[in-house]
Amino acid sequence: MNMVKVLAAAAVAVVALGGAGVAQSPAAAPRLYILNCGEGTAGDVSRWSPGVNEGQSMVFVDSCYLIRHGKDWLLWDTGVSDAVAAMPDGLAPPDPRMVTWHLPRTLASQLQDLGLSPADITAVAVSHTHPDHIGNVELFPKAMLYVQKAEYDWPGANGAPRFMPEHPVTRLEGNFDVFGDGSVVIVATPGHTPGHQSLMVRLATTGVVVLTGDAVHFKSNWDNRRVPAMNVDKDQTLASMETLSGLLTKEKAQLWINHDAAQRATLKLSPAFYQ
Ligand SMILES: [Zn+2]
Repeated sequence: MNMVKVLAAAAVAVVALGGAGVAQSPAAAPRLYILNCGEGTAGDVSRWSPGVNEGQSMVFVDSCYLIRHGKDWLLWDTGVSDAVAAMPDGLAPPDPRMVTWHLPRTLASQLQDLGLSPADITAVAVSHTHPDHIGNVELFPKAMLYVQKAEYDWPGANGAPRFMPEHPVTRLEGNFDVFGDGSVVIVATPGHTPGHQSLMVRLATTGVVVLTGDAVHFKSNWDNRRVPAMNVDKDQTLASMETLSGLLTKEKAQLWINHDAAQRATLKLSPAFYQ
């Protein structure tokens, strides 16, 4: 996509975020599936809530979200690597305070349940580049990747690139209306990482749902506006929470917090879907 189109799309996104009404043809009305892309236990939850619940472990989940829009399929976040499904003891983290991840079933097999192969996924967007969100990006080597330029350009360990250089990519600089009709809008929410982003999905029956990524990790952190110590920018994180809070008010939206196990237990997982 050239820069003029990106800017035009960004302008549309701003309009959509402003609450303008959006007419949807029934064929394009999105469906949203929640996939189980990880289950785990954090060794010390205070890593995410400084000074609170020190030394206590906590159950985390990791969600991927699949959106059908017309004949397109967009995957939002890709979870831990499918290789983790074959690890009987799960994937141990470098720091025991972090999450040991298990994967009950691969992402590929959950797609198969829906009659999909990885090649059917036309677009992938990731909230950010931590391993529990980009674990399966290369399962979709031809899918257009939507990521913030600030995240794409953020040097990895030893200066390594965050994505395969040959992967098709649209580098975003702010909000972006993915399908140009206001139904699926990427919302820039930097702070956890330099180019972190969240996703707003407008569903015909369910209403508007905002998918957090890791703008917040669980509800008590949202309620108390707590910022994990490992976030790259505390002030940006707090500003991004206010961006999301404003969206919830304006759109009467639900906030679906990716890693919140208690919340996910209340939601229906694929093959059930929201529309
Ligand atoms: Zn995460």
